[in-house]
Amino acid sequence: MSSAQNVNVPLLDLAPQNGEIDAELTEAFRRVLHSCRYIMGPEVEAFERDTAALCQTRHGIGVSSGTDAILLALMALGVGPGDEVIVPAFTFFATAGCVARVGATPVWADVCPHSFNIDLADAAKKTGPRTKAIIPVHLFGQSADMDAVLAFASERGLRVIEDCAQSLGAKWHGRPVGSFGDLGAYSFFPSKNLGGFGDSGLLTANDDALAERARILRVHGMEPKYYHKFVGGNFRMDPLQAALLAVKLPRLAGYNSRRAAHAAAYHAALGALPGVASNTPDAPADALLLLPVDFSGEGIWNQFTLRVSGGAARRDSLRAHLAARSIGSDIYYPLSLDQQECFRGIGRGGETIRVAGRLGGEVLSIPVYPDLSAEQHAAVVAAIREWLELQTA
Ligand SMILES: *Cc1c(COP(=O)(O)O)cnc(C)c1O
Repeated sequence: MSSAQNVNVPLLDLAPQNGEIDAELTEAFRRVLHSCRYIMGPEVEAFERDTAALCQTRHGIGVSSGTDAILLALMALGVGPGDEVIVPAFTFFATAGCVARVGATPVWADVCPHSFNIDLADAAKKTGPRTKAIIPVHLFGQSADMDAVLAFASERGLRVIEDCAQSLGAKWHGRPVGSFGDLGAYSFFPSKNLGGFGDSGLLTANDDALAERARILRVHGMEPKYYHKFVGGNFRMDPLQAALLAVKLPRLAGYNSRRAAHAAAYHAALGALPGVASNTPDAPADALLLLPVDFSGEGIWNQFTLRVSGGAARRDSLRAHLAARSIGSDIYYPLSLDQQECFRGIGRGGETIRVAGRLGGEVLSIPVYPDLSAEQHAAVVAAIREWLELQTA
């Protein structure tokens, strides 16, 4: 019995992060309240400039959510009925939902079991004459191989939308994600590394004409006022979100480095235990638990996602074991997108997406948020060690 058992460890705790900046948040709230500017304006523009600088892109376009950033990207690129878009089958729903919402067809690419990111060898088999775009997702905070994605797309004449929802601040060979493709889509959902106080998102672009089109589509395709060039929507970011997020933005690098330190400490504490290995191609086949690897060393650890071998029942037993010790965890994601009810019948000939389908029964994300204390971290490690001992007893 370990004494760490009484420590409560939620999967995510925003109270310390927000508490530390309470006075600044309150001041930002008051500033917006008293400005009486509640739609667009200087708060949004300042945030757009600062995030574009962080992402090293010419344009940052504040939007209503990460989902709307993806939707707007597809609309700006003119993706629609008759078009196919390559999407990894293992990601949050929004990546593919937006493709369906513009009337195009999502085509599933499998993922790499080690990085959880898109498998381009599989994507190559799915590309055809109707394929218009590809959406690499930088899942769990780690960049997809953007050299390979860009080469893949240019050989086939595809547009690239990067889904950076989980990866603000992550880089690929020194360059920020979201700066490689035609457009980059970010989310400030509270669980992302830059977590807002409600919904909002960002679209990044380097091409001036494309950015201009996206800006117009963000306000009902309107330019000038009450003259509608395109059928757009209301995809605006609230000034209140921009003002509150601006308080956190300069601290993002600090948040990310604390996450990285927790991840490194998990590797140090768990990596040497029997039955545990790093999730690399040369991991022993009999490993019970695989620890996630930041292959490029430039990820931001939005999630620390374990793979538990032996099927969903064993993974669920680890989750229950943690829950019994007041340790939060979650399954991102239980079903691959091709298995979702709303996408039944989509895809070619009932193909199965092998790795993505299997991961749903293996993955478990454990706490890695910045303010995780040493005591909480130790409690997670102790509980996992105990579970491992039970497996081999
Ligand atoms: C969170 C997320 C989104 C959607 O962002 P929202 O702001 O919640 O709409 C899209 N893609 C991925 C991979 C995400 O994790």
